[in-house]
Amino acid sequence: MKTVGIDIGGTKTAFALFEDERLLETHAEPTTSFDETAASIVSWCKRRGADAVGVGCTGPLDEELGIVKNADTLVGWFDAPLVPRLQEALGLEVPLVNDADAALLGELWAGSVCDSRSQPVLMLTFGTGVGGAVWDGDRLLKGAQSQHPEIGHILVRHGGRLCYCGLDGCLEAETSGTALNLEAQEAGYRDFAHLVEIGDPIPVFKRVGAQIDVALRVFAHAYSPAAIILGGGMVERYPNAYVTRSVLTPTDAPLLLAPMRIVCAKLGSEAGFYGAAALAMGVLG
Ligand SMILES: [Zn+2]
Repeated sequence: MKTVGIDIGGTKTAFALFEDERLLETHAEPTTSFDETAASIVSWCKRRGADAVGVGCTGPLDEELGIVKNADTLVGWFDAPLVPRLQEALGLEVPLVNDADAALLGELWAGSVCDSRSQPVLMLTFGTGVGGAVWDGDRLLKGAQSQHPEIGHILVRHGGRLCYCGLDGCLEAETSGTALNLEAQEAGYRDFAHLVEIGDPIPVFKRVGAQIDVALRVFAHAYSPAAIILGGGMVERYPNAYVTRSVLTPTDAPLLLAPMRIVCAKLGSEAGFYGAAALAMGVLG
């Protein structure tokens, strides 16, 4: 059986072809207009004789109708009928999930937490923004009207930096790559990488580590997961700042019945297409 996993991001669309569960081929190209990118997906899948296709896409999405609701990072795609277009052209059912959900499915299937598929697991991704997803041991956790839970917007600092969502002190507004770049620019640097190069990033790293600790305690108590995965470009670049512990024990959080592992994502930027393919194959239930 040939399965294609697609990961549509704001700048790049990644493609992967699997034969049964083996990765055969990958490809990436810039994400352009909806019409062009959808046509490119259809032709890539048809040329490879895909029997199943799954798609992860940067949200927000209406997953029930298969429609893109993102006006910020996918310019011109608002209300784009992604799933109806692909299903009609390919003659296949095409499941669609938020990119954070796709990354978590990828890590469950082929990455850092394969041994915890039957347990609740949570993932946080630190890049331009902060994304997150929750697996309840059997399926992805959804909110009302199938909404994706926006766990990057939990409060970690009262009166903190203003978030694009309208609130202040969100985890995203304090610890994302965008937030750290802003903070560095306010201190006179080009961006955060420049601050790291010629300045002293330790106070920022300490603050980020402490705020992630707040988030981990919140999620440990809210979901009691077996593991929390930390991934994304900022974690890959500055692991010592973002990953300050490998476990949260009942000593740290007395109401936890068992230790909760903190693990680094394994698949990097490939997690999305692994997860989209896993969804199309139905290998995770
Ligand atoms: Zn926010």
